[in-house]
Amino acid sequence: MKRKTIVLLAVFFFLAISGLILIQLYWIRNAISITDQQFRYQVNKALESVVLNLEEKELINKIIEEIDTTSADTDSSLEVTSSALARSLQVYQPDVKISDSIALDTTGKPIVVDKSRQKIIISADDIAPFTLEDSPELSAGNPGAGLSSRVTNKIVSLESIMEKIFTKPPEIQVRINPDELNNQIREALNNVGIRLNFEFAIRSGRSGIIWKTPGYYDASGTNRFMRQLFPNDPVPGQNQLVLYFLQEKQYKFDKIGNLGFLSLLFTTLLLILSTGTFIVIFRQKKISEIRSDFINNMTHELKTPISTISLAAQMLADKSISEKKKDIIGLARVVKDESMRLKYQVEKVLQSAIFEKVRLKLKLVETDIHILLNKAIDGFTLQINSANGKIITDFGSTSPFCRIDEVHFLNAISNLIDNAIKYSKDSPEITISTRDQKAGIMIVIEDKGIGISHENLKKIYDKFYRVPTGNIHNVKGFGLGLSYVKKVIEDLNGTITTESQVGKGTRFIIYMPKSGK
Ligand code: ADP
Repeated sequence: MKRKTIVLLAVFFFLAISGLILIQLYWIRNAISITDQQFRYQVNKALESVVLNLEEKELINKIIEEIDTTSADTDSSLEVTSSALARSLQVYQPDVKISDSIALDTTGKPIVVDKSRQKIIISADDIAPFTLEDSPELSAGNPGAGLSSRVTNKIVSLESIMEKIFTKPPEIQVRINPDELNNQIREALNNVGIRLNFEFAIRSGRSGIIWKTPGYYDASGTNRFMRQLFPNDPVPGQNQLVLYFLQEKQYKFDKIGNLGFLSLLFTTLLLILSTGTFIVIFRQKKISEIRSDFINNMTHELKTPISTISLAAQMLADKSISEKKKDIIGLARVVKDESMRLKYQVEKVLQSAIFEKVRLKLKLVETDIHILLNKAIDGFTLQINSANGKIITDFGSTSPFCRIDEVHFLNAISNLIDNAIKYSKDSPEITISTRDQKAGIMIVIEDKGIGISHENLKKIYDKFYRVPTGNIHNVKGFGLGLSYVKKVIEDLNGTITTESQVGKGTRFIIYMPKSGK
């Protein structure tokens, strides 16, 4: 699959996932707002029922109380019959057949509702005061007159009770029993399915909080529900019931929490897994590109000496060319050089095989590092001379002995010198120095070559990694040399670090412990 296709797939995938996450967030937000609305609605419904219940109970108690006192004191009943309402009802002669009930209308005027549910308003304003005995209809023995007087008496006594209740309602402290109110609130909330603990207070417009539960605090921050107490009082709005819940947020979270949490968890998992999958795909793609580069390089590197050798062999075998004309020694040198090159390339490829093993099998021998370095330098004399370069040695170590595996360590040093030559511009100038270190030796291989950028410096020890050459240099390689160097040095318990400046040169600093451990 092409890199572009994978990138396109990744982009579409992440767009789709982002859309899905946005929709999910929208649903969760909606669910939160619906739960909130539902909660408020249910609490308000419960409080409304509490308040109405409270008012109704008070009214009933008052009526019972007042009726008791009215029947005990007949004088007061006589007193009330002289009221305007009583007088108006005494005058009114209802049609017995059609009248159903008598009530007060919204303005407090007495009305009779007939069977056809039409209201008949009785107005007492224009009627002159007179007594029951003065009524000609009653004295004439009208059959409706008895009912009229009974209704009148009832309404009059009700009116009197209402007047008492409405004109001077008692203090709120007297009207409410907090324990009873607490029970009523609990019951009403239970009825709407809310079993949360709550705190509440009774607030009076004039004197602030007049009663509160022990845990109630009067600070903002929590969702407070307020309900007017006795809303049908003549001057309403004076007294309020204020209530809040202790675990409201927890309750709402519990309601949508689990589903919301699971959906977020799975989306996050999906995001992590898909990101991981794409990272793996990109890595695999990179590895396959590196491998194919490696195979191309290797084929080229191995093919060139093979074809040169076979050409030289052909010339030697060609009978049409006389023995004299054949430069046998020259051809032999070509064959020797090319086979050496071939051997070196094959060795490098074989070095990569060591990576399959977890740890190298090392043969540790006490070795003079200076002798070993000179041996490595000797191997490059021809190459250095032909490139007009030089290798400067500065062996400052006084005790250059370490326990190392000679073969692998020599290979590693050779790789570093080879790179220093390969990645130098014209004539290579390489300095190899040693210094004593605490319990070890420091070896520095420094060149004045093309250098490595900071960004690439981190990757040069990776297997198959080669700095993208572009137009800078055209040196063939497999990207295996430095990874081998690092593996050998670390398996010998040493360290290797690199310092480099593009255009100025590179310095490889090796530290090797004397003991090899
Ligand atoms: P290669 O076979 O490509 O030389 P190496 O593993 O030896 O593989 O090196 C990895 C990369 O590090 C090289 O491709 C090169 O770009 C860079 N490099 C290594 N040594 C030097 C150096 N002395 N100067 C500049 N670049 C270097």
